Amino acid sequence: MTLPLPPASDLAARMGRVASIAAAHADSVDRDGRFPLHTLEALKAERLLGIQIAADLGGEGAGFAAIAELCSQLGQACASSAMIFAMHHIKCSSLVEHAGDNEWQRGFMRRVAAEQLLLGSATTEGGIGGNLRNSICAIEVADGICRLEKDATVISYGTEADAILITSRAHKDAAPSDQVMTVFLKGQYSLEKTADWDTLGMRGTRSDGFIFKGEAPAEQILPKPFAEIAAQSMLAASHILWSGVWYGIAVDAVARAQSFVRAAARKSPGVVPPGALRLAEVANLLQMVRSNVVAALKAYEDARHDGDRLSSFGFSVAMNNVKLASSETIIDIINQAMLISGIQAYRNGTPYSLGRHLRDAHSARLMISNDRILGNTSNMLLVHKLDTRLLG
Ligand SMILES: Cc1cc2nc3c(=O)[nH]c(=O)nc-3n(C[C@H](O)[C@H](O)[C@H](O)COP(=O)(O)OP(=O)(O)OC[C@H]3O[C@@H](n4cnc5c(N)ncnc54)[C@H](O)[C@@H]3O)c2cc1C
Repeated sequence: MTLPLPPASDLAARMGRVASIAAAHADSVDRDGRFPLHTLEALKAERLLGIQIAADLGGEGAGFAAIAELCSQLGQACASSAMIFAMHHIKCSSLVEHAGDNEWQRGFMRRVAAEQLLLGSATTEGGIGGNLRNSICAIEVADGICRLEKDATVISYGTEADAILITSRAHKDAAPSDQVMTVFLKGQYSLEKTADWDTLGMRGTRSDGFIFKGEAPAEQILPKPFAEIAAQSMLAASHILWSGVWYGIAVDAVARAQSFVRAAARKSPGVVPPGALRLAEVANLLQMVRSNVVAALKAYEDARHDGDRLSSFGFSVAMNNVKLASSETIIDIINQAMLISGIQAYRNGTPYSLGRHLRDAHSARLMISNDRILGNTSNMLLVHKLDTRLLG
């Protein structure tokens, strides 16, 4: 099986231009905890926000493989920028895969591509935390209008987004897991800030907490139940695109450590620098993360047109494992890279600095807590036989 390659080889060149702008601002975005506006403007200028939308709606039909590659490219420059790009495309995937022939949703996708709209996400809720398959809040529909109020404790770039895709119970009597996802456009909702995003890392994502209050035409509710959206596209999109970002952070950490070792080798010709062996070890770990993400992309492409397979325990276990492995391993990689360059990595403002990388990487295990994911996998493994084939 071959993975679908980027539809145009110029995607990497376009992202390369964005990444150089993002890299120039990465340290100040982190230091000041500010939204990376320059990156967003560059993404829009390069028209990279609409690439996932089908060509007949004005996009370029890019698949997860192409987008994961771009996430990793941007992740090497500025992790917050890359996470914003990834989250936008995770939301896009819900539309691309599940809007069906719903006219409003198709028109909205046209707008996303044409106007390069930025999509935000509100799944996390006070009292529910990261359990995105449950909601407390419920959407109310009356006379063709839907209304929703949600204690959304974390919405990345909530104030900068052009639209927010938000989960809720399907109606006031629905069970917590009977959910829908609704698109609310800027102007159709208010955000009352409840929590400030002053965090260890991923500071540029500006993931403040808000009370969200929205009112919109009911046709903006996605036609499929959220259970299907979560299982059939969002699980894979989140874990693969996030992993693309995290791999990018680790790649840049290893690249910095490698340049430290090479500089040391140049200073003392004929002597192998002490960090060289550790660099070889860390390159090995990096390749494991990469292989893991590539395997996940293959698993998704193999299952993509088979709803039963996408909803199967085997597929969920595989996607959970990708997220667990990449989010844990990047911490080891950056820690090892820090030991290679020592104080030069620990100190801010050197070519080998890794403080920002390490702090950003620590968010990976919390973006849906790994403990929660392990709990979910352990339940499935009570009834599901592990797939032990090598090639699947
Ligand atoms: C950079 C970043 C950006 C984000 N952006 C968004 C966004 O745009 N929109 C959005 O909706 N959310 C967003 N989130 C939220 C995120 O995806 C998680 O939902 C949220 O971080 C979970 O919050 P919590 O740590 O309080 O987790 P909870 O899920 O409430 O868990 C709290 C703790 O309890 C433990 N725990 C909970 N349940 C279990 C269980 N079943 N088994 C074992 N242990 C358990 C875990 O150890 C965990 O540390 C973002 C998070 C980050 C870090």
